[in-house]
Amino acid sequence: MGAIFPSPDRCQRCNEQLMPDNIVWLELNNKTNLYSDPAKVHIAEEDSQGSFTFGATCAKHVLKNGGICQYTYSMRRPAERTTDLRKVKAGFQFTWGYITGFWEVGEYAIVQYEPYNRTGEQMYHTWVQGKDTSEGYMSLDAALASCIAYKYEGITHHGDAYFMRAMLA
Ligand SMILES: [Zn+2]
Repeated sequence: MGAIFPSPDRCQRCNEQLMPDNIVWLELNNKTNLYSDPAKVHIAEEDSQGSFTFGATCAKHVLKNGGICQYTYSMRRPAERTTDLRKVKAGFQFTWGYITGFWEVGEYAIVQYEPYNRTGEQMYHTWVQGKDTSEGYMSLDAALASCIAYKYEGITHHGDAYFMRAMLA
């Protein structure tokens, strides 16, 4: 509980997924192709391409550079992705998809995520006693049951499969 997760918004300059408290909006002038701080510069409505998200550091770079966003797409660095629970809780990108939910109960942790390139689908990834089980489930119920079974039966657990079958019968 209490972990902060990246928003789906990405930095326009480096393509990093942004933490909610690290988002700066800059407005793009489509005549000059320059970004500016909408609180300080007024862009006529017909010249505005709208506002875009930047990380605080990149926003500073862009403004210092006269509003030029000098990173091209090919220069963008891929953000680190991980299944390390401590890093996931610290806001790193998750290996398997965009995080849409997180629960930590006792020795169990479950991340709900939308797999990259499979929009709309939701999956659940589990940790037991801080250890990545490397397992993904299609429902929160199945993920929870698997955590308990994993704890008592280890990696070759199947008590959860019997349990789920009994519940759903
Ligand atoms: Zn950035």
